[in-house]
Amino acid sequence: MYSDFQNHLLGQLNEIREAGLYKNERIIVSAQGPEITLNTGQKVLNFCANNYLGLSNSPELIEAARSALKTHGYGMSSVRFICGTTDLHKGLEKAIAGFFGTEDTILYAACFDANGGVFEPLLSEEDAIISDALNHASIIDGVRLCKAQRYRYRNADMEDLEEQLKLAQAQRFRIIVTDGVFSMDGNVAPLDRIMELAERYNAMVMVDESHSAGVVGQTGRGVTELFNLRGKVEIITGTLGKSFGGAIGGFTTGKQEIIDMLRQRSRPYLFSNSIPPLVAAAGIRMFEMMSSTNTLQERLHENSEYFIGQMSRAGFTIKPTRSAICAVMLYDAKLSQEFASRLLEKGIYVIGFYYPVVPKGEARIRVQLSASHTRSHLDRAVEAFISTGKELGVI
Ligand SMILES: *Cc1c(COP(=O)(O)O)cnc(C)c1O
Repeated sequence: MYSDFQNHLLGQLNEIREAGLYKNERIIVSAQGPEITLNTGQKVLNFCANNYLGLSNSPELIEAARSALKTHGYGMSSVRFICGTTDLHKGLEKAIAGFFGTEDTILYAACFDANGGVFEPLLSEEDAIISDALNHASIIDGVRLCKAQRYRYRNADMEDLEEQLKLAQAQRFRIIVTDGVFSMDGNVAPLDRIMELAERYNAMVMVDESHSAGVVGQTGRGVTELFNLRGKVEIITGTLGKSFGGAIGGFTTGKQEIIDMLRQRSRPYLFSNSIPPLVAAAGIRMFEMMSSTNTLQERLHENSEYFIGQMSRAGFTIKPTRSAICAVMLYDAKLSQEFASRLLEKGIYVIGFYYPVVPKGEARIRVQLSASHTRSHLDRAVEAFISTGKELGVI
């Protein structure tokens, strides 16, 4: 039996390889940070981590984790409602609600789980979910697990959203769902206009702040801060795996009754292990840092502005962005791969994306900025882009 299945898989794997879509993993032998060491011995500048605030290797967070390791041990060996809830888990939930200006928070092992477990307990076939076409895979999967009617609107297209909202008047309750920042272009969801439409068409709003929390808004509170809508949307989901230290964990934060119902019914919460207390402790420390200073957010904003300015001046086409994601457009798939590998040879680690990850003819290199990049890191990256751009006739 297995030999037939094996041949079937080998055939499919080959197709993936031939299409040039086979994902190989680079192996890092140092801590995550702006400078990393690969197992080949090469030291490179890292411009492809979601380490927006540079906290992945923060001494303060390591210390908080270390001290919780002593007081609370390593693992919980339980889901939350049996014996997996510590003072640290409750403290982190409160800190997240404080950060976003929401009523309560429920933690998950990942934002993938938060999104996977948010719709099914709240909505049924009488209801409607109206989802941006470029929403994260975990939202798409979460919607699939729920019986509500599905509507989809073109990315950040408010006319299309309005059309879908009109159709969704047939249902009992409606929720509009959007990423805060879309990961391929770095554009933000037009939350001000989404909220207007939500009001006009009697819908609730959910924002996934995974790429925007810590980044967007003057103090990094996300798109709800950017549009002056703190505490207004019903549901926010997010991750501890990007700006917030980058270890593991996700959350849903928002209206009290919604969080209460998720604690009763959300399957990835009820049937999956509690996050390690040391992760919760480091999270609490992280949110304390966020509330006492804005230095990291300011440095990130400065770095993003500087890098994008230098790259535009050099003649590169950058997609309009309001985040720490900078898409350097090359339009050609092969060129994007060649460009990225030449950059790596020069010690700059970035990823080239092409169809089907982005639309056909929109191949690009995605650069992710971090508060931990120094001016000299940024200059080295820009120089490498310029020399490679000249070699390959891009600029
Ligand atoms: C990264 C990401 C997730 C997944 O977060 P994890 O905590 O890594 O599971 C979910 N939604 C969006 C928009 C993301 O960017």
